[in-house]
Amino acid sequence: CGIMGYIGFREAQTILTNGLRKLEYRGYDSAGIAVSNGDKITVCKAKGRIDVLEQQVSEVSLAGSAGIGHTRWATHGRPSDENSHPHVDETGKFSIVHNGIIENYLDIKQELIDKGVTFTSETDTEVIVHLLADLYDGDIVSTVRKVVGKIRGAFALGVMCEHEPDKLIAVRYASPLIIGVGQGENFIGSDIPAILEHTRDVYILDDGDLAILTKESVTVVDIHTNEPQARELVRVEWN
Ligand code: GLU
Repeated sequence: CGIMGYIGFREAQTILTNGLRKLEYRGYDSAGIAVSNGDKITVCKAKGRIDVLEQQVSEVSLAGSAGIGHTRWATHGRPSDENSHPHVDETGKFSIVHNGIIENYLDIKQELIDKGVTFTSETDTEVIVHLLADLYDGDIVSTVRKVVGKIRGAFALGVMCEHEPDKLIAVRYASPLIIGVGQGENFIGSDIPAILEHTRDVYILDDGDLAILTKESVTVVDIHTNEPQARELVRVEWN
């Protein structure tokens, strides 16, 4: 339902939970964040209000200046801690948040189970993170492209990979996503309010866009061809 992402120089956890609060108006049943400290990704997620998540976050060490967050509106699998996003693969090296629906997830899930993958949730989303781990070729962008070639449906994705901690990947396909451009920091949001307290300069992604964020740069390419896409930097004037 709601996506927030951050890469920069400040503590990600507060920026992520504050951003998720700005998306609360969309409705949700659970919330979670994954934070990378450059070495390791740590996930904290729970069914219920963002207050519940913040309570949990205060009890674990979630230091780090890159991360992804999500508020979930369940479509596949009941509201529960396990079904909340972010989802991680079996090694814990890949983490994703997803808005939308993966229509062919049952077929993919069966293929992965046949390969020995253990699923921990009932969501359609979880296939994406296991596909990432399964298809990883040393380059997260090319791996995301391969995964997107396999899934059908509507998706906005935020992706983090422990092997490439200086990058966040965002994908838009039939589910809205924007990028906020800051100074030494950049943001992903499913909607402008999520990032507005930090920056007013945004790229509105088109369907089929893949954005690569570092703390210093944002690059948008076509998800299928890898061709650079020129997106206009829009200045948001409203409050
Ligand atoms: N289909 C996913 C799920 O049920 C994502 C739902 C959403 O957009 O929040 O977990």
